[in-house]
Amino acid sequence: MDIGVLRRDGRTDPFFDGTAADRLVIRHCEPCDRWFAPDETGCPECGGEDLAWAESSGRASLVTWTVTHSRDGAEPPACLALVELAEGPWLHTRLDGVDPASLREGLPLRAAFVHPDEGESYVLFRQ
Ligand SMILES: [Zn+2]
Repeated sequence: MDIGVLRRDGRTDPFFDGTAADRLVIRHCEPCDRWFAPDETGCPECGGEDLAWAESSGRASLVTWTVTHSRDGAEPPACLALVELAEGPWLHTRLDGVDPASLREGLPLRAAFVHPDEGESYVLFRQ
């Protein structure tokens, strides 16, 4: 499944610098030592609006998923998933190289990185 060309917008530079280097970089509130998804802008715990960027382990477990099939069946099915990172935040992502029949809640996953010819690198998850 083609996700289109990704472009950074200035607010997401640390995230895309990370994916380009095979690193999953997410938001971290240093005073609270809490982790957040890359699109989080503030910490609900302390109200801090200056979240740091820090590297996640890239380990995750499967929360839920859906398998989409192309209309004409020409493309392989795509697995869209919600995963829980080991640090706590949930991410919407795509699974790669998995057998849809083997998917189950809690399945351990690991971040993998795609470097398209055009646009930004991005993350997906594999078993
Ligand atoms: Zn905080």
